[in-house]
Amino acid sequence: MHLKSLTLRGFKSFASSTTMRLEPGITCVVGPNGSGKSNVVDALAWVMGEQGAKSLRGGKMEDVIFAGTTGRAALGRAEVELTIDNADGALPIEYAEVTISRTMFRSGGSEYAINGQNCRLLDVQELLSDSGIGREMHVIVGQGQLDQVLAATPEERRGFIEEAAGVLKHRKRKEKALRK
Ligand code: ATP
Ligand code: MG
Repeated sequence: MHLKSLTLRGFKSFASSTTMRLEPGITCVVGPNGSGKSNVVDALAWVMGEQGAKSLRGGKMEDVIFAGTTGRAALGRAEVELTIDNADGALPIEYAEVTISRTMFRSGGSEYAINGQNCRLLDVQELLSDSGIGREMHVIVGQGQLDQVLAATPEERRGFIEEAAGVLKHRKRKEKALRK
């Protein structure tokens, strides 16, 4: 399974429909400051159901909709489509290719679809839940967080790894128990 393509329409700075084709392996997005690299990562999280405006680097959910620039009027909706190659059947659905889409209108509310069929957020979450992507499954290391990791002491670095592995809370509990 791998991400095959990502299309943004009216999402953040991507007013015109923009499609990125992705190959298996590592993908790098390069460009000058403010050109929309992080917006591409936000679009990935958003189409997979991200509900927090802060995780999407905005104040309100509508902030993902193209807000207009001096030469171009604001748009009324944002749409992102993510196509996943499912030839290996990693996603529990009988299609070799799966397209998830999310649309949001300025008037509020999001619509989701799987292969063009309208569905609920829950259906998207369930589809992705065993795949290693989707809600709380993938890891997005935000800008600035990498510096934090590189500058960390060995103890702090161990903390990051423990947090990622989900063992930090157990160690804290153990320490608390031993103190008693
Ligand atoms: P850097 O290299 O500094 O991290 P970047 O390539 O990651 O930059 P982004 O943060 O993805 O850049 O894009 C920022 C740009 O997106 C800003 O110019 C901002 O005005 C624009 N932008 C964000 N949300 C919207 C929106 N809703 N409508 C229009 N433009 C938007
Ligand atoms: Mg950025």
